[in-house]
Amino acid sequence: RQAAFRTDIGSLLEQVGTGKESLSFMKRRIRRLASQWGTAAHRLDHKLRRRWREQKKILVHVGFLTEESGDVFSPKVLKGGPLGEMVQWADILTALYVLGHNLKISVSVKELQGFLGVPPGRGSCPLTGPLPFDLIYTDYHGLQQMKQHMGLSLKKHKCHIRVIDTFGTEPAYNHEEYATLHGYRTNWGYWNLNTRQYMTMFPHTPDNSFMGFVSEELNETEKLSIQTNKVNNMAVVYGKEASMWKGKEKFLQILHRYMEIHGTVYYETQRPPEVPAFVKNHGLLPQQELQQLLRKAKLFIGFGFPYEGPAPLEAIANGCIFLQPKFHPPHSSLNHEFFRGKPTSREVSSQHPYAEQYIGRPHVMTVDFNNSQEFDSAVREIMRTKVEPYLPYEYTCEGMLERVHAYIQHQDFCVPDVPFPPANISKMWPGSPFVILPNSTGLGWAPNASAPPSWPPLSALQLLVSEEGQSCVEACQREGLVCEPAFFRFINNKEALSRLEVQCEGVEAEMNHVFPAFSVVQRECGLQKDPLLFSCAGFSTKYRRLCPCRDFRKGQVALCRDCL
Ligand code: UDP
Repeated sequence: RQAAFRTDIGSLLEQVGTGKESLSFMKRRIRRLASQWGTAAHRLDHKLRRRWREQKKILVHVGFLTEESGDVFSPKVLKGGPLGEMVQWADILTALYVLGHNLKISVSVKELQGFLGVPPGRGSCPLTGPLPFDLIYTDYHGLQQMKQHMGLSLKKHKCHIRVIDTFGTEPAYNHEEYATLHGYRTNWGYWNLNTRQYMTMFPHTPDNSFMGFVSEELNETEKLSIQTNKVNNMAVVYGKEASMWKGKEKFLQILHRYMEIHGTVYYETQRPPEVPAFVKNHGLLPQQELQQLLRKAKLFIGFGFPYEGPAPLEAIANGCIFLQPKFHPPHSSLNHEFFRGKPTSREVSSQHPYAEQYIGRPHVMTVDFNNSQEFDSAVREIMRTKVEPYLPYEYTCEGMLERVHAYIQHQDFCVPDVPFPPANISKMWPGSPFVILPNSTGLGWAPNASAPPSWPPLSALQLLVSEEGQSCVEACQREGLVCEPAFFRFINNKEALSRLEVQCEGVEAEMNHVFPAFSVVQRECGLQKDPLLFSCAGFSTKYRRLCPCRDFRKGQVALCRDCL
């Protein structure tokens, strides 16, 4: 069946259900952004030229909202607790619905069992028949629940699963045996999925798929009116929970020399002692009212926590400049409590690395907050600087629909990624598959009829070599490209090594998450033995890595030029 774009969200709202503050929050959000999604659907429909899209049967099981997982978030919705996840789930539901898929939503284990057709009760018989869905979107909690209630059949069906995973999961942590042997075991990882099945909030590492969320969009009239009504000395503090303000008086004092400071900190009866008297605290605001406040404010300031949330994008979209602390050394699961036990060793260079790296000046200023002078001059610069509201395309409704559409139509983890060219290359392969690129940043791929179909298409592949100690994420980035894990299977071969004129004394195939790679000193070359360990994020001071890079669309890093 063909999927047809939907613009009337009525039946989606009905499906979301009631009875939890989190569901009400999500419904308010879906309602508030409905017309924006509608416009985006029309635009994308036009852009895709009414192309045939298959309608998928999709189950969305929101594990963290189930009673069985403890549901710690719902009671905190109106009390300053985390809302980013709910923002994202609301947007995922809307995107899938607007794209016209056949959607079922579950927020309890009972509903999950009902939809999957397994008898109720724990540890009961596994699902025996075919999976009644093409795709299941869930989170780590939901995955655990499915394991408990589907038993052995989960293994058989897991290629249909997508895991919404805010901060991401790197291949070394995902691979059970490897993680156990090499100290990458955490509470969350070790599911042996293809790591592109994990979908993140921001494009952290291309090893995962970037799902994202949306932010409010403004038309030209609104943009103009925002710019004329900006209050140059008005700041809003990022942090809806009092604890986030602890120990920040020094910066607040400096800021207060120049600006009027507003906060949206939750409180019950009394003003929280962490919030100084000179701050105008509005209490936790409904999303819509927060947007209004951001429209007037010139500065949105973060104090280091929460990490990587939606609010800074909303602020920048409403014409604020986001001022945030640089972290040195960077925060990560190795040195910071918040990230400890998360299945990634990604280094977080500031409160919001996406804002820092993908947006940057003039919309984002990332400074050393411990240097009062630097902080002081940043505030003054912000008051002088004029900026326009800005929202990266990938965080617009159209951008999210485009990306999710592409994933649904092209990502298939049920067919194995067979290596190519095959290992006995000399017999099968008449010439080199690689060509030197005209700009000679690396090697490209010569189109060849016998290559298996690939998404992203092989024409986008550019093979680069990293420096020692450099990951493929960085190596590709340095050339204005992104690492593309789907291409590892095309470069994990002797052919690639020899075309790069690497001197190898021997070539071993091993389980090592930095392979394919070579050591210059030892003249050792290593190929990857287990495709599950292909990793963009991996690096080692001993090795230079072979990196499969690709181009990307401006404002839509998840998709290459020919990916749509
Ligand atoms: N938010 C809100 N009212 C407030 C402050 C924030 O509705 O007073 C919303 C905000 O619009 C954003 C969401 O809370 O979409 C999550 O914000 P944040 O970046 O703080 O991420 P979190 O840590 O909650 O996941």
